[in-house]
Amino acid sequence: MKASLHRPSQAVVDLSAIYFNIEQIISHIPEEVEKWAVVKANAYGHGAVAVSKYIDPIVDGFCVSNIDEALELREAGLSKKILILGVSEVAVVPLAIEKEITLTVAGLEWLELLLNRQSDLSGLTVHIKVDSGMGRIGFRSGKEVREAIHRLQGAGAFVEGIFTHFATADEIETANFSAQLSRFKEILSELDFLPPLVHASNSATTLWHSETIMNAVRLGDIIYGLNPSGRVLELPYEVKPALRLESALVHVKEIQAGAHVGYGATYTSDSQQIIGTIPLGYADGWTRDMQGFDVLVDGQRCPIVGRVSMDQITVRLPRAYPLGTPVVLIGNSGAETITATDVAEKRGTINYEVVCLISDRVPRIYKD
Ligand SMILES: *Cc1c(COP(=O)(O)O)cnc(C)c1O
Repeated sequence: MKASLHRPSQAVVDLSAIYFNIEQIISHIPEEVEKWAVVKANAYGHGAVAVSKYIDPIVDGFCVSNIDEALELREAGLSKKILILGVSEVAVVPLAIEKEITLTVAGLEWLELLLNRQSDLSGLTVHIKVDSGMGRIGFRSGKEVREAIHRLQGAGAFVEGIFTHFATADEIETANFSAQLSRFKEILSELDFLPPLVHASNSATTLWHSETIMNAVRLGDIIYGLNPSGRVLELPYEVKPALRLESALVHVKEIQAGAHVGYGATYTSDSQQIIGTIPLGYADGWTRDMQGFDVLVDGQRCPIVGRVSMDQITVRLPRAYPLGTPVVLIGNSGAETITATDVAEKRGTINYEVVCLISDRVPRIYKD
């Protein structure tokens, strides 16, 4: 889909904030640790190409979820290492070799399929994924990892890394985290070959379990200035949210007591009121459960009244504002701020989902 440019709704991405956030993290972890920026899902909605190009000088590589996301970066001219975190189809291996994209190997059955199809893996770089308790993808025993590494190396692949992923690094309770860490270390101890890169740290692990940083980190949510725990754990150092979602009033009217607003007539005004309309709705990622939440107009919180439509929302204004008056959905206006975490709490979800769901219809505007 083409972004709708001729509308005031836009996501303003502050690239220098992302740069600042990475520098903050770099200054708090050992220098020799490789810093990989996780830019999957269009850099959590911030724009993978623009973000990756901007931060390229200060990171060692990029992580994405699939080969199409990796190819997008290669086509944009990015030449640093790119690791695909998920399972790829075996059919993409020649493309991965050609474009120097690193694949994750997560199981023997997959490797078997690959070797049946292609016995020469020269030029392929892989990282081995260990499932230490997340239960999603990865090897669950040292014996299987040994066999996988042996077969990969036998076929000419370069096993550059081995990694795991924590399920609960953003929680107060650390029992599951510790169990996963022990399991990962146990599996590592059973290997006869240790790949040069051993990594286990996502944002939360980097922030709150710094003793667990091995020799690479995979930084996602935190580089966008978001707290991966929401409000559960406090950030040990300052980061700046990089994304601001804004729009403007395109229609303003007065309604009388008893008038309805929106689909289903779920809102009935109990007095004379001023209603403003904003050109953004659930097709932009402003989901229907945002009804009752606020937007910011002229430094004031104004409630979304009536249902969220596909392309529009309606808000109750304290007075009549002229057309074109700016509206902030995520960000600050005067002394008031709405964060992605505030939005997530209203929806019963996490800030990750809020920024990822801002759809392609919303243009990303970059400033630095
Ligand atoms: C998404 C992802 C990350 C990044 O997680 P954040 O919490 O955003 O830092 C790291 N590792 C893996 C395997 C992932 O899937």
